[in-house]
Amino acid sequence: MTDLTSPAKHAPAAGPSVPGAAVYPGLDDWRQLPIAQQPTWADSPSFAPVVKELSTLPPLVFAGEVDVLRSRLAQAAQGKAFLLQGGDCAETFEAATADKISARVKTILQMAVVLTYGAQLPVIKMGRMAGQFAKPRSSNDETRDGVTLPAYRGDIVNGYDFTPESRQHDPARMLKAYHTSASTLNLIRAFTQGGFADLRSVHEWNRGFTSNPAHSRYEKLAKDIDNAIKFMASCGADFEALKTVEFFASHEALLLDYERAMTRIDSRTGLPYDTSAHFLWIGERTRDLEQAHVEFLSRVRNPIGVKLGPNTSPDDALRLIEKLDPNREPGRLTFITRMGANNIREKLPNLVEKVTASGAQVLWVTDPMHGNTVTSPNGYKTRNFDDVIDEVRGFFEVHQALGTFPGGLHVEMTGDDVAECLGGADPIDQEAFLTGYESVCDPRLNHKQSLEMAFLVAGALSQ
Ligand code: PEP
Ligand code: MN
Repeated sequence: MTDLTSPAKHAPAAGPSVPGAAVYPGLDDWRQLPIAQQPTWADSPSFAPVVKELSTLPPLVFAGEVDVLRSRLAQAAQGKAFLLQGGDCAETFEAATADKISARVKTILQMAVVLTYGAQLPVIKMGRMAGQFAKPRSSNDETRDGVTLPAYRGDIVNGYDFTPESRQHDPARMLKAYHTSASTLNLIRAFTQGGFADLRSVHEWNRGFTSNPAHSRYEKLAKDIDNAIKFMASCGADFEALKTVEFFASHEALLLDYERAMTRIDSRTGLPYDTSAHFLWIGERTRDLEQAHVEFLSRVRNPIGVKLGPNTSPDDALRLIEKLDPNREPGRLTFITRMGANNIREKLPNLVEKVTASGAQVLWVTDPMHGNTVTSPNGYKTRNFDDVIDEVRGFFEVHQALGTFPGGLHVEMTGDDVAECLGGADPIDQEAFLTGYESVCDPRLNHKQSLEMAFLVAGALSQ
């Protein structure tokens, strides 16, 4: 198999390897560096034509929207807003249906109403949606019953079915990812701009949730929100204005062939924007400062996130700030910590202290999912709801003790009634996995678990 840490087979940094690609100094410097977690498809005859086509297709998001998001995240970095980022671990082409997309958007909006009330702050709503198709893997291969095939790397690279044809890396999948992202975004824009997101309807959905006896402990908070909405109504609040919400798209910027091809020069500012999503993050496995991902993302104007696991040293964090946010611009850089419930209280304080002492104003977000993955006795990749909640609590405790702002929540969740994470008020047990486990990658909170988390976090925020 290919050594994934060796330099990629790409053209040197002198210019874009693809005619028609946006030209801007430094946009191809990553090609000189080692790059992890990439497909082995550069020699495929369809590679160059696909990248060329992607380079000329319309942008999926617009530079002006990206700038709005940066200013919203700047508010969060300053303690004046809270970020809610949620969606699948891995989106699939097959699951990009109207029902599933609307259920996920609906769940994020429901969570956001509860969090807005708890935090008494605006909540920035962002999906791990419309582009979350590429996955880093711990191994290049997968073996089943003595047969070894390339690992599944997400629908943008290969198929999930365990056959040689499906597991082949296919550049044409990048075009399918583009079009699936476009249709997903189209639906999200319709839902969030067309009246579906009306605050009063979102609140009605939450009432349905809390009338379930298992959730009686949230009744007080739900009642308080109800009273607040009635109060607004009697004050003559303009509910028409609350019929639309801002909703942003994000994904892990893993596949640099795709991200580079989707980069355009903004006609207003003359600067490069990666138009595949509003917000892009660098994963825990690809945040090496000497490698390609950090280099490429340092060149685009989008707000950038970096996942930080328990082995992150303060020096790593400071060097990431220097490279990705040299101008110390609030909203530019978000650190998404994913330490694990057992580590967060021990590891996070030193990082936050050193970063704060450096004068940088990053946005701190908790991902309570990726440090808490375990295998159930019956063999499923899962997470305990209690561990997830414990990491969120630890995140709040650490920031409260240091006087810094716990600015957001990043979760793997779905609007569907799946069984992938254990526990919750309407508990999921491992037997339920046999029929209810749908994720092709990491386990997600289901609809009820997601709302329960929102109520728990809102309770913590309002204390
Ligand atoms: C993910 O967000 O799905 C992921 C792989 O996370 P991390 O990079 O934090 O492991
Ligand atoms: Mn994941």
